[in-house]
Amino acid sequence: MTHVIHRNPKANYPVAASGEGPYIIDDAGKKYFDAGDAAVSCLGHSNDSVAKAMKAQIDSISFTHSGFFTNPAMEGLATFLAGKAPGDLNHVFFVSGGSEAVESALKLARQYFLEKGEPSRTRFISRRQSYHGNTLGALSAGGNLWRREPFAPLLLPVDLISPCYEYRGRRDDETDWEFGQRTADELEAALMAQGPENICAFICEPVVGATLGAVPAVAGYFTRIREICDQYGVLFIADEVMCGMGRTGSLFAVEQENIVPDILVMAKGLGAGYQPIGAMMCTDEIYNAIVDGSGFFQHGHTYLGHPVACAGALAVQQYIEDNDLLSNVQLRGQQLREGLMARFGNNACVGDIRGRGLFQGMEIVADRLTKEPLDPALKVHVKIKAAAMDEGLMCYPMGGTIDGHRGDHVLLAPPFIVDESHVDEVVSKLGRAV
Ligand code: PMP
Repeated sequence: MTHVIHRNPKANYPVAASGEGPYIIDDAGKKYFDAGDAAVSCLGHSNDSVAKAMKAQIDSISFTHSGFFTNPAMEGLATFLAGKAPGDLNHVFFVSGGSEAVESALKLARQYFLEKGEPSRTRFISRRQSYHGNTLGALSAGGNLWRREPFAPLLLPVDLISPCYEYRGRRDDETDWEFGQRTADELEAALMAQGPENICAFICEPVVGATLGAVPAVAGYFTRIREICDQYGVLFIADEVMCGMGRTGSLFAVEQENIVPDILVMAKGLGAGYQPIGAMMCTDEIYNAIVDGSGFFQHGHTYLGHPVACAGALAVQQYIEDNDLLSNVQLRGQQLREGLMARFGNNACVGDIRGRGLFQGMEIVADRLTKEPLDPALKVHVKIKAAAMDEGLMCYPMGGTIDGHRGDHVLLAPPFIVDESHVDEVVSKLGRAV
């Protein structure tokens, strides 16, 4: 009898005994290809240079509290990220994971307007079917109704607009471009409904991960979103917890949209699972408003800038750079997409295959022409997950009723170190499972 509170106490999970490259091996010796751990393990398992960097940090100093000291690992990682992030996203705040990073971003946005003498800007806007974390503030910011509803009333006033989800949102009589402009304009309508002077920030994922399965926006959508935020003085928070840190083929997903958010949130791939770590970055404008204003960011956590976490994350990012793994993400991402198209493109139950880089999603429907979703009671995504585990593949299926859209999908996020045969293995194992 276990004493651990498992999220699903009735699930009979195998015991992970070890990891080796892209594989997890259970205590019976069975190997699972890890293409589904929520886009975390981008270097696979047991990376030696990351282990060495973390051991060296523990050997010198393992923990310092941020209220007393700074530390070279945290400073080094911040310098690395500031050097890579677009625009003047020059300032980094480190936490222990995605939800904490989102919470920090929400509070930073609120404090920015307090410093500027605009205290009425307290509301947030986000998108339906979005996920920004599980702590109550981050949950309030998300638009995943079945997660929100049990906990209503939530903490933050949030208005929800449509996601840019071409597959279920574009009308037959409009082009991709028109669809993108129309969905982006919902932001302006939501702002006007509450009064722009009451809105603090808009938060969304540049490529939607867990809730929709690797859905990028159509061209022009984010340019229009940026324009609207600028016009009304609203901050734009890009949540790249899942799609960031190289997953889509560029270090930050917003690079491919040619926009600079005011606050950029990251976690998962930042430390690649070697440690709990997350971060948010902000522009000079926001940072200076706080430094020149009250001079104190009213937020913090005990493990802020944890030296071992930061040393490990820096080693992860350096490994990616030294081995040019972003090129591999692009190359193998293309192969994965083509492999999925070849294997499933004509499948009567596959409605859509989409994504960027090694972040690919596949929609499972009752009829690929009408896009009629499967009956949620069939729980097809749950069955695919189980069948894939039997085949020795971890993928990330989601489904059920989300905000009126029924739908099952599978998300694939293999590590950046994969070679050609690994990608073939993922596609053929998924084929057998589906
Ligand atoms: N934002 C996004 C976009 C996410 O995908 C997630 C996790 N799936 C989170 C926030 C929350 O991150 P964490 O689970 O590390 O708290």
